[in-house]
Amino acid sequence: MSARMLDGRTLSKEIRASLFERSLRIKNNGRAPGLAVILVGNDPASKVYVRNKSKACDECGVMSKVFLFPKTVSEHELVELIEELNASNEIDGILVQLPLPEHVNMRNIIGCISASKDVDGFHLYNVGGLVVGGTIFPPCTPYGVQLLLETAKIEVSGKNVVIVGASNIVGKPMALMLLQKGATVSICHIKTNDLSLYTRLADILIVAAGKPGLITADMVKNDVVVIDVGINRMPDGSITGDVDFDNVKHKASWITPVPGGVGPMTVTMLIENTIKAAELRMSINNLEVTKWSNKIRCKDYPNYLVKFDMPTVIIAGTENEVKECYEVYRQLRPALTRKSFTEQILRQMKSDNYKIACIKKDGKVVACAGFRILETLSWGKALYIDDLITDEMSRNRGHASHLITWLQEEAKRLSCKQLHLDSGFARINAHRFYQNSGFHIRSLHFSKEL
Ligand code: NAP
Repeated sequence: MSARMLDGRTLSKEIRASLFERSLRIKNNGRAPGLAVILVGNDPASKVYVRNKSKACDECGVMSKVFLFPKTVSEHELVELIEELNASNEIDGILVQLPLPEHVNMRNIIGCISASKDVDGFHLYNVGGLVVGGTIFPPCTPYGVQLLLETAKIEVSGKNVVIVGASNIVGKPMALMLLQKGATVSICHIKTNDLSLYTRLADILIVAAGKPGLITADMVKNDVVVIDVGINRMPDGSITGDVDFDNVKHKASWITPVPGGVGPMTVTMLIENTIKAAELRMSINNLEVTKWSNKIRCKDYPNYLVKFDMPTVIIAGTENEVKECYEVYRQLRPALTRKSFTEQILRQMKSDNYKIACIKKDGKVVACAGFRILETLSWGKALYIDDLITDEMSRNRGHASHLITWLQEEAKRLSCKQLHLDSGFARINAHRFYQNSGFHIRSLHFSKEL
């Protein structure tokens, strides 16, 4: 038996064709997406990686600029350039090719990159997103591995995944991503006693140690899926991975070749992240929405387009109006006690910019939504919408629709580029409704984080 190949080269080609389309759409809106690559020193491997990245940019219609520095460059000079690139309208993504010389503090440098241009996904903001779920730019290599698995329809949920290598750029983020997908993940590293004890347990084995021949056939079980991230240049100039490919392939069900497996995917995901950054910056709203909950159904949303006489939207100003809004809310959430909820609402109202928009009909509140304007670190000004609710009696009369239209107008008036939806509100129909609004829509699970 011989394993099936997880062919990153072919998959990359397909993805790059679709990236070119996305890139073109951005270009038609003004300018091509732009990637800045900073390369310090003369490391031959780094030079090859940078060249590959530039080539892939050309292929996908992304403008790339390479900034070369001698290895004597000061941290200050690099920071200055990054700050310039952060402010540049031409650049959507910034990548610092690692490793950097020892006298340069890598963490300081990466920390200077604006989180919204951190297409490598190494900024603490994006790393944090990976930990709690919902990162914007997943680190390219693990992202590429995840896509290889998904495309081959290899289920990870409930599987034993063993990762050899615990680096910040491959092993750790890979573990977090697959943990989130429901895998049981073990991470091995140089201090792991008896590596083979773990590797033999693996349904999916991901190796990123940078040690040629580290994984031999006797270390894996039959039908294992093997992802070899390693790239090792041998004395004869050839490239090999960390896995003894020729022997392991007879036991595995799937395996990545080196070269032609993970490598091309890494570069492709970098381009994907760059295009995503450009889309976010230009508010092109074609992101896949992954965060809505489909568990709760709300009767309002299928009826957005119902025609109705236009009631006026007001901002609940008096305490009485707030209490009326609360009554509407309580019809959906009877478990909330009056006191605690009213107090919460009033507290929120007092806090920066929180307001309740409501529709009054015949002098009575029939629909309401909480909202506030946010200045987010990465995405600028956004209108954050809390739960939107309508009165039980007036459900399906189009009040929700009217309130949403009003909120969108308000967002435009206040120059917001995005609408952020509370997870309770961010249901599929709501997203469909917003899809053509010209805003970038984000669903948030943890509104408090904002
Ligand atoms: P790294 O920072 O050197 O990390 C290697 C990790 O492997 C470390 O956690 C290290 O443990 C562990 N390790 C080393 N020898 C080991 C052994 N004998 N047994 C168990 N664990 C061992 O390297 P990296 O940046 O993650 O890269 C790893 C490999 O992937 C390299 O070959 C690199 O070229 C390649 N890579 C490929 C791509 C791609 O696109 N295909 C992208 C990135 C990297 P300690 O930390 O405890 O020493």
